[in-house]
Formats: sequence, structure tokens, C-alpha cells
Amino acid sequence: MDLFEYQGKQYFARFAIPVSKGGVADTVEEAVAQATAAGYPVVVKAQVKVGGRGKAGGVKLAADADEVRTHAGNILGLDIKGHVVKRLWIEHASDIEKEYYASFTLDRPNKVHLGMLSKEGGVDIEEVAATNPDAIAKVSIDPAVGLDLDAARAWVAAADLDEVAREQAAALLVQLYRCYVDGDCDLAEINPLILTPQGEVKALDAKVTLDDNAAFRHPEWEEFAWGETEDVREQMAKAKGLNYIGLDGSVGIIANGAGLAMSTLDVVNQVGGQAANFLDIGGGASPDVMAAALEVINTDPKVKVIFVNIFGGITKVDDVANGILEALGRVEISSPIVLRLDGTNAAEGRALLAPHLSDTLIAEPTMLDAARRAVALAGA
Ligand code: GDP
Ligand code: MN
Repeated sequence: MDLFEYQGKQYFARFAIPVSKGGVADTVEEAVAQATAAGYPVVVKAQVKVGGRGKAGGVKLAADADEVRTHAGNILGLDIKGHVVKRLWIEHASDIEKEYYASFTLDRPNKVHLGMLSKEGGVDIEEVAATNPDAIAKVSIDPAVGLDLDAARAWVAAADLDEVAREQAAALLVQLYRCYVDGDCDLAEINPLILTPQGEVKALDAKVTLDDNAAFRHPEWEEFAWGETEDVREQMAKAKGLNYIGLDGSVGIIANGAGLAMSTLDVVNQVGGQAANFLDIGGGASPDVMAAALEVINTDPKVKVIFVNIFGGITKVDDVANGILEALGRVEISSPIVLRLDGTNAAEGRALLAPHLSDTLIAEPTMLDAARRAVALAGA
């Protein structure tokens, strides 16, 4: 999960990384109230999960309440690269002497953490990376060893940060590394990391990606869900332990195994159809799982037909057939269902279903036949 800047800064603050005082606002008047609380001058910042806000007009300095009103009014509702601004972060403005860049991310192929630090941070860091990569000091950190203050000191020296900033920057990087590791981030990036004329080093921006696989040990991450545009069906599927991804077409797909689900999408495409979703029910196909899968897909108004594609392996097709029949007894399904059942005990499974087949419960012998049938029904 990507965090908004304000959430990233709240996360940083937990790890004692210095950030400016501020607050969120969803309306112009809230923005004025937050500006008063933070103290003028302030900076009014669009909260969208995309970079380059400054260049898009989403970051503005304001000296008084009138300027806050103007900027907040302009930025709320602004479309930044397809992300519409619904929330602002208002913080006390900082004076900037220097803009640095700092980040930690995972270097998967080398099984280490990668730290990047540059004295040429700010809105053009991508250009620096492309045209002057030597301006970025990289460190590889063995996760078993970590980053201590001495290593961080050597790093800030290698990056040639201003002398006055070095000791604070080194301490901040150790904290940022802690945030990244203990806070289970995939990415913790500060751009710009600033040095003020008063000689203070702090994070002026925050880009944090949390590792969703670690969510189980962070109940406090719940609070970061604001503005997550997770599809209702994705939520429903997650609650039922299913792997569901919503798509734009009209053929609902249920398959056992991610590989088969993907092949099913391909075959549906190949015969001229469009999948409404990707739903992998995994290894088992118990009545509970099947009912849950049908229920999730059934709530999608785009779905005109449901294609159930099961290849029995350890899962036996007769068990699947019983699962489907029981599920159909429990859930009222509004679209016709096309079945392709093959693999272990396929004959037994098909025999179980034979008496129940109808215009709305159709069995086809192969995946291709079933896809053609489903696509034809979706188009009708
Ligand atoms: P981004 O464009 O989405 O990366 O947004 P940032 O939060 O990084 O802000 C973009 C730029 O706005 C920064 O690089 C700064 O130059 C400027 N900026 C942001 N906050 C302040 C501030 O408090 N004071 C000043 N003077 N400039 C700021
Ligand atoms: Mn930035």
C-alpha cells in the first residue's frame, strides 16, 4: 500500500524523523484553520499518490489566510496525472538552503537493502539519476547487519552533503532505515530532505510504500485506509480469502489456480470476449469457496455470464461438482453459468451435474468450447 505524503510523515514521526508541523484539510475553510494552527507562512500541498505534484501546481506557499483560500481552492479538485485532489496537507513552510534526496528500497536480485543519497535532490531527481548517476551515493545494506551511525556517517561523507548537515543527516538516515525495516516498508523515500538556513535537517516530503505482506503485524495500518479506492468486490473477496481482481469486461471467471485463471483470461480474449474479473479459488473448491466465489462475481452488474473453469488435480472434480450444486442452492445467481470441468474424476463430476444442466447451467467439453459459449452468451 502506498501512503499519502501526510501519512508518510506521520509514519516518519513515529520513528523520530523530523518533519514540519501541519494538518490535513478537506475543505478551504479547514485549510485556513490548519494554517492558523501551523503558523504562517504555510505550504498548501495536494495529497495524491503520484509524484511531481510541485510541477503540476499542487504545492503552493501561502503567506496569509487569503493566499491559503486561493491555493486551497485551486488545488482541491485539481487533476494531477489522473488523480483528483480530495485532501490537502497544510504545514508550516520551511526555509530551504539545500535539497537532498534519501531513500531505502529492496534490491531483490542482490538480497540486500539499497540506500540512495544525493546532495542534488528536489523535483529534478529523475534527471539527476539519468544524466549524472554519480551524484547519487548508493549503499548496499546486509539486512543481518543493518545500518549503524558510523556507516551512515561514511555514507553522508561519500554523498558529499554539506558539513553542517552531516551529523544530523547520518542520525536521520539511521532512523529512516529503522522506519523502513521495523516499519515494514518496501520504499521509504524523502525528496527533498532539506537543510535549512538555520542548519536544521528534515523531511519535506514523504513517499512510503508499506509491504502488504506485513499487514498482519501492523493493526495500526488500518488508519491509512483513507481514500483507498479498493473495489467493493475486492474487499468482499479478501474477506472470504479469495484472490479476486476486477476487470472491465462482461465474462466473470472462476478458475482453480492463478495459472489456469490467467489462461482463461487469454482464451476468453482469443475468442473475442472480455473478462470481468480474475478469480482464483486456489487449490480447493469446497461448497463454501464456490458459493463465496459465485457470490462475489454475482454482485458485479457488468457480468453477463460466469465461466467456471476447473482442472482437477488433487482437487477432485466430483467434489467440485458437489460444491457447485450446493453453492447454487445457497446463492441466487443472475447470470448463466458455463462449466468446463476436467482432470481428476472429471467423468464422475460431469455425471453428477448432468441432471441439473439447463439454459442457465451449461457444460462444455473443452476450455475453448466453454470460452466460445460464454462469450456468445455475454454478447447476447
Ligand atoms: P512533489 O513535487 O510531489 O515531490 O512535492 P514536494 O513535497 O517534494 O514539493 C515540491 C517542491 O516544493 C519541493 O522540492 C520544494 O522545492 C517546494 N516546497 C515544498 N515545501 C516547501 C516549503 O516548506 N518551503 C519552501 N520554500 N518550498 C517548499
Ligand atoms: Mn517530492
